[in-house]
Parts: sequence; C-alpha cells; structure tokens
Amino acid sequence: MHPETRAVHVEAPKLDGAAPLSVPIYQTSGFAFDDAEVFADGLARPDGAFVYTRMSNPTVRALENALTDLEGGTAAIATASGMGAINATLRGLLRPGDHVIAQRQLYGSTYTALRAMAQRGEIEVDYVSGHDPDEVRKSLRDNTKVLYLETIGNPAAHVSDLPALAAVAREAGVRTVVDNTFATPILCRPIEQGADVVVHSITKYIGGHSDILGGVAVVADAELHRPLWSEAAELGVTPDPFAAWLAIRGLATLSLRMRQHCANAEVIANRLATHPSVASVFWPGLPGNPSHEIAKRVLTGGFGATFAFELNGGRAAGEKFATALRLAKFAPSLGGTETLVLHPASTSHRQLSGVELENAGVSPGMIRISVGIEHADDLVADLEQALDQV
Ligand SMILES: *Cc1c(COP(=O)(O)O)cnc(C)c1O
Repeated sequence: MHPETRAVHVEAPKLDGAAPLSVPIYQTSGFAFDDAEVFADGLARPDGAFVYTRMSNPTVRALENALTDLEGGTAAIATASGMGAINATLRGLLRPGDHVIAQRQLYGSTYTALRAMAQRGEIEVDYVSGHDPDEVRKSLRDNTKVLYLETIGNPAAHVSDLPALAAVAREAGVRTVVDNTFATPILCRPIEQGADVVVHSITKYIGGHSDILGGVAVVADAELHRPLWSEAAELGVTPDPFAAWLAIRGLATLSLRMRQHCANAEVIANRLATHPSVASVFWPGLPGNPSHEIAKRVLTGGFGATFAFELNGGRAAGEKFATALRLAKFAPSLGGTETLVLHPASTSHRQLSGVELENAGVSPGMIRISVGIEHADDLVADLEQALDQV
C-alpha cells in the first residue's frame, strides 16, 4: 500500500483483545508480571515483553512500527528528541578511535555534537560537500565507520547524492546514517537508496504541529536494533507515551501537509527569486539550484519546504526582515503548520566561527524559512511587506 494509506492505519499492539480506532496512550512507567523469566526477557531485548517505559512501551512501539514501515526499515527506536536519536545512533555505531565522514552543511546541534566528540579525542571527523562520491572515497580511512548525511541539508537545502555516496560507503564496509527530517518518508526513503540508519527529528514535519519534541532512528539491518535501543534506553532519551501518541496523530496527515507545504514553497521560492531585495534563493526545486538535478533523482513528490534565501544588505537586512514579518513568526524550529522564519547567523548557527559558518553555507544575510500550510497569497503578502522594509 501507499505511504499515504500506511500513515493513517497505525496499529496498536493488542494487549487485551480490543481494537480501538485510536492507538491507546499507555501512560504508565512500568508493567507487572507473574513470571520472572518473561520479566527478565523483556529487560534484555528491544522487542520482548513491555517492562519499563524507558525501555519499551506499547504506544511508543506503535509509533516505532509505523515509522519502520514508512521508511522501509526492519526496526526503529523512538526517542525524546531528534538529538536523542542522533546521539544514541552515533554512540551505538562508534568506538574510541573511529573516523566519521560527515557532510559539511549539517543541523547546528549535530555539527556541535560531532565537534565535541572529536575535541574530547573520542573520534575523528572529516567533512565533505555531499555532492561528490570521489570526495568520500578519498576521505575513507581504515578506521572509518560512519558516513553521516542529511537528505536536504540545513539551512541551505543542499540535497545529498544519497545513492552514489552510500554506495561508496557500503563498498568500504562503512555505515551510512541519513538525517531525513527535512524530506520525511513522503519525499524520500533513504534506506531504499542505500542508507543503513535513518534518523528524524519528529519535532518537525512528522509531529507537524509545533507541540512535541521527538525523534527516531530507523535501522535497515536488524542487527543494529539492539545496540541502538540499548544506547537510547541507557542514555534515558526514550520518549514519553503522550508525545509518542501525538506523533502518531501527526503521522496521519503527514502526506497531506507535505503536499501543501511543498506547493506553497514553490510559489514562495519563485516570488522571492524575482524580488529586487533578494540576492539568491536556495530551493532545490528551482532549475538553477546547484542541487536541482540530484534533487530530481533523490526526492519524489516535492522539493521540500524548508530552505534559505539571501538578502541584499547582509546581517542588518537579515535581522530587520525577520522582525518585520506580521504573519510568519520569527522562531526556531520548522515543519509545523505555521510559517516560521529564522536568521541562522544570529541564532541557530551563532556557535560557529566565521570560517565554520562559511563551510556550513551560512552567510550573514541568509534567512531560513519553513513554509507552512497557510494560503500562499497571505504568505506572499507578508513576505513582500517585510522585504519592502529592508
Ligand atoms: C531539529 C533538527 C534536529 C534535532 O532535533 P530535536 O528534536 O530538536 O532534538 C536534527 N536534525 C535536523 C535536520 C533538525 O531539523
């Protein structure tokens, strides 16, 4: 069946023979037993009996099963945030002395997490553009264990050549981890293109309503399920059942929302591209975009709705624009129903030095927009009145 259908029919684990239409919220910290062996087995396995909610919970399991299915994996570990999934994955896959090849344009906290691990001497990291398989091949070392990519990069919406890069990694016995937050399984299923682990911030499009934090790691290879589960459970980054329930609720409308997000993004990207106050627009759907040809191969059904554009007038113009909006909010995060705008240089990427900003593709006048599902005309009117003030 199609993902649109599967996202609506999320199955609840049947514990008592009833079949509720909505997955029940098992708001409990633990479960009682009358058999010590079943109890012990549940503590030892990610798919054993439900024992303690930090390790497993039926509502959380329903979300994990739905995302495993949508991403085409074999198992998933839901987490309390996207960074929870990313850190549990990195810790599960890496040992001291290992080497990571990562894409240069990364979500800010992912970059700082990798940098911190490298500064503590735990791992070594090299960065690549994400466009060129030869660059990955040349960066490979004997101790390379992970290739880390984002389907659609943050903030400049660079699209990685997933099949080509993952093929190089696979040949060398290196695992490919892909952050699929910006694309969602509606626009891209990285496992089908060679990824070993797909991570998401559920906080964004999957949750979809700016009301929860959540994350997930979906694994292609069942062997990775237990180590990643064990990291997540021991780090204590597994989710609360209520947040998992809201994520399941969000999932039901994911495909509808993505269709509207992407359609609005197309209107806005095209309008911005012709505005005299805008120097450039980094939306992979625009024919002149450096990622356009790759995006046509890697994405299906849309080019995403979170992207950046560059204002004439640098940092001052960026700050002025962000605060002149009336409908779109100047706020962190993305992927909710409402349009949000961010000025990365002064907010999300403020930890980065000038050189690091340049490497990450962030310029002082850059604005990141997460296009919502409002009427496109209202959004265009708001963006134009703010541009007029810059
Ligand atoms: C938000 C985000 C994260 C981190 O997710 P949290 O839920 O905030 O922890 C990771 N990657 C990308 C691409 C994101 O947008």
